[in-house]
Amino acid sequence: MEVRLRFAPSPTGVLHVGGVRTAIYNFLYAKKMRGKFLLRIEDTDVERSREEFIDVILGGLRWLKIEWDEEIIFQSKRLEIYRKYAEKLIREKKAYYCFCLEEELEEERKILRLEKKPTKYSRKCLKRSEVEIKKLLSENREKAIRFLVPEGETRFVDLIHGEIVFKNEEIEDFIILRSDGTPTYNFACVIDDKDMGITHVIRGDDHISNTPKQILLYKAFGWKIPEFAHLPMILGPDRKKLSKRHGATSVIEFKEEGFLPEALFNFLALLGWSPGGDVEIISREEMIEKFDIRDCRKSASIFDRQKLLWMNSEYIKRKDINELVELSLEFLRKEKWWKREYEKDLDFLKKVIELTRERAKVLRDIPYLIDYFYKDDFGYDIEAVERYFADPKVFEGLEEVKGEFETLEVWNEEEIEKVVRKVADNLGEKHAFLIHPLRIALTGRKVGPSLFKLMELIGKERCIERIRRIIKELWGYIPGKTEFKKI
Ligand code: GLU
Repeated sequence: MEVRLRFAPSPTGVLHVGGVRTAIYNFLYAKKMRGKFLLRIEDTDVERSREEFIDVILGGLRWLKIEWDEEIIFQSKRLEIYRKYAEKLIREKKAYYCFCLEEELEEERKILRLEKKPTKYSRKCLKRSEVEIKKLLSENREKAIRFLVPEGETRFVDLIHGEIVFKNEEIEDFIILRSDGTPTYNFACVIDDKDMGITHVIRGDDHISNTPKQILLYKAFGWKIPEFAHLPMILGPDRKKLSKRHGATSVIEFKEEGFLPEALFNFLALLGWSPGGDVEIISREEMIEKFDIRDCRKSASIFDRQKLLWMNSEYIKRKDINELVELSLEFLRKEKWWKREYEKDLDFLKKVIELTRERAKVLRDIPYLIDYFYKDDFGYDIEAVERYFADPKVFEGLEEVKGEFETLEVWNEEEIEKVVRKVADNLGEKHAFLIHPLRIALTGRKVGPSLFKLMELIGKERCIERIRRIIKELWGYIPGKTEFKKI
């Protein structure tokens, strides 16, 4: 039999990491079993569902390349189907009309609360006679349909948590069709999962208490019950529910920050599941091969942003350079200093990104990491200047290096390095004595990629000009006194 799974978001908000992880596990399991992964939009809550959230959810899934196999099912287009099934249950006396108004129900619950009893529906409408029901129906009274919960207990074996048992007496006769004709979540979910041929339901463990209700519905219809797996929550580092406080939670924000979709996919897949060993970076193909829902952790997972950043940087290091350039351009174009004309020389940009990418944690770091390859008027890091320009001999060294550069015929990494080391030796200083000030002259900063390589890329004339500029700006440097352009 074909294995079929689905992701069933409600378009009442953006797509959060928890939802994405659920989608990922459904997707991985479907692919692993060579089955189908389907998508259903649970949009029956007319008040809270919004079209734009559908776009955001679909956009997020597409960005992560979580592709669905068949046409998307929209619950809002299936209202007639739910109504027919609800009426079938009424005919079979497995459900009944409820004419109670919300105020009456609230009153009932209030009294129960005062008596410290569980707030279960009293079954007032179940006790009505046929005649009474007919009369109320003919008066066109507002009515919902409630499921008649049978006696006994409901048990199921959760693929992650093992056996779970609920006493039916703890479940009230829940509404399946509201008075406005819309189905409730549990009802629509069962009908759809059956119609879509769903064999495995993987969802958040906030749904555990819904599962017995759904199982009772499957039994009432005489349908085959799918397998269930309930995923533990994702918590913030403070062990509280993941929220905005912990940084981005919406998938699109991760995109905007410059996370790569494959990194986020990898990270979320490992948040509650492990392929074994200490494997952390794992391709989608390997995940599909190794994934088993039964191997998921029972306890909550902690969202560790530092780890995600690390993982993203690993993916940036490995990304195809042409693709990385394309992606970086989106971030560069948002910078005021970026000029369209720079894009004429993509080869140069490619070299620059190749040289700096290992320092990027997110794509949004790229503009900062490469700006000095384009801008000449950058400021200098104060701390670095204080540290490396205190000795006036530095200027002597820089002058000398500049002079040597002017006559240097071949401008490449090796030749540049030879010059710098030779001048430092002549001064009787360690090589670092010149390397640090040169880096500040060339980039304004104290750290960065290989100095000689970046000088090769920046080019002879511009390097000489930058050395000239720093000598001029810092000449006679006195800490705290000398004015210069700062970062
Ligand atoms: N719409 C529900 C949710 O977003 C789906 C739950 C389920 O997968 O059954 O939580």
